[in-house]
Amino acid sequence: MLKKKVIISACLLGYLCRYDGKTKKDLKIVDAFSNDEIIPFCPEAPLFGTPREKISVLEIDGVNKIISNDTNRDVTQLLEDEIKSFVKLHPSVQKIVLKSKSPSCGNGTTPIVNEEKKVIKLGDGLATKIFKQVYKDIKIKDELNYL
Ligand code: SF4
Repeated sequence: MLKKKVIISACLLGYLCRYDGKTKKDLKIVDAFSNDEIIPFCPEAPLFGTPREKISVLEIDGVNKIISNDTNRDVTQLLEDEIKSFVKLHPSVQKIVLKSKSPSCGNGTTPIVNEEKKVIKLGDGLATKIFKQVYKDIKIKDELNYL
């Protein structure tokens, strides 16, 4: 029988890919999908290395941009290209579980800041936004609500 293909944020699987060089390994996620074909996903580490400067979702004139916190670099296009390359490699998957609150992976839980770096609302990270457009039939989950 074909295994279910599941995209999971790599930091939830134990990869040391977070901005601070740490992981967010979540054993309940690892266990829950142990019989499936897991596709680890992290768009930030290959682009910016680990550890790296933190990035945030900044809303400018109603448009979300991904900006590095200290150097104010706009990395939106870089990140978008990386995510779209990943999607091309995995056109068909059955489940997606991403890390909450991340500027890339958060699903309705990502802090969106204004130009004064004040949180104005919660929203989607850039990968989640793109995944919702591409994997239209899949309800994206996170580690707080993964089944
Ligand atoms: S939340 Fe997403 S982008 Fe951030 S470290 Fe985890 S997998 Fe990578």
